[in-house]
Amino acid sequence: MYRIPFDRVNWTTSSFLIGTALIALVGVPIYLFKVGLDWFQFAMFFFYVTATMMSITVGYHRLFSHLSFKAKLPVRLFTLIFGACAFENSCLNWASDHRRHHKHVDHDEDPYDISKGFFWAHIGWLLFKLNPEPPMDNVADLRKDKWVMLQHDYVHWIGLVVGIVIPTALGYAWNASQGLDPWMGALGGFLIPGIARIVVAQHCTFFINSLCHTVGRQPYSTTHSARDSAIMAFLTFGEGYHNYHHEFQHDYRNGVKPWQWDPSKWTIWTLSKLGLVDGLRRVPDGRILLAEMGEARRKAQKHLAEMREHPHHSPAHRAADAMHELVEKLSANYHELEKSVADRVQLSREVLNAWQDETRSLMRELRRTKASASA
Ligand SMILES: [Zn+2]
Ligand SMILES: [Zn+2]
Repeated sequence: MYRIPFDRVNWTTSSFLIGTALIALVGVPIYLFKVGLDWFQFAMFFFYVTATMMSITVGYHRLFSHLSFKAKLPVRLFTLIFGACAFENSCLNWASDHRRHHKHVDHDEDPYDISKGFFWAHIGWLLFKLNPEPPMDNVADLRKDKWVMLQHDYVHWIGLVVGIVIPTALGYAWNASQGLDPWMGALGGFLIPGIARIVVAQHCTFFINSLCHTVGRQPYSTTHSARDSAIMAFLTFGEGYHNYHHEFQHDYRNGVKPWQWDPSKWTIWTLSKLGLVDGLRRVPDGRILLAEMGEARRKAQKHLAEMREHPHHSPAHRAADAMHELVEKLSANYHELEKSVADRVQLSREVLNAWQDETRSLMRELRRTKASASA
């Protein structure tokens, strides 16, 4: 039977995570029932959720952990301050864990290794201390940044003041200015943009480690568990295109297609137009398509082999013959693309688009034959 390893419980973190969740789940509904929701509280909640989540996705993740672009001081300071308000530890700690996650994904040294189960990847890794604690030997570059180090030293104080005290004080001041009970306003500020916002932002971040390694498609690689999901992207400010991200971690975009929901990428792009960030790193389109075609080809060949195991003249076997032609064509395109990527030859947009369309139609065909085979 499963026993909780009490000697390894991280009591501070566990009390915080469980305590804030309980306050949010019990306190917020009672407050809303008794007092109702003021638009000012809602606006503060919206601002704080967005600022906190964006500071994690744009700042902690894409800027500091992956160096996928360079940022001027205002952006670095903003994301360090509001990142602290997420109570997900200092940027230095976060980046160290995250770099290990990418390097050892799905293996023992991955701090949120999904192969240890959904619960572990989501929150278990935070509730229990590792024995021994892994060294923070992969963030030497960040240690040279005095603002990162300052945030590291005062992270909980910054989170407490900016993330809890300020919304509480603003709630007080707002109610006082409206002739309402100021202490009720303070309580609302504490509960809604304060505690409930922390819980929402934390679990949305944790989903990246749990659900984004569980649900969705793997169009770029199946060598790791990360997945692409539009629903997850919506909940995580664009981080749900996690299969792409694990394949090309230095790209500032996670949702690489123009239509994919990635507010973090749009924010970084907008900041670059304002001159606040630069050096945005992008993987060339040819390399991205090569990964997609390689994955499509692998899946199609596997499926083709399965269909061929069916008896001759069966519908599955006949469908395999039709699909064989598509796979051959994809393979030919794949080799041509592979060669041009290796030779650094720029292929025209039209050729890339045509191959992209062919790859997609093959994948659709594959899903269709799979569905009809299992029907
Ligand atoms: Zn991941
Ligand atoms: Zn990452």
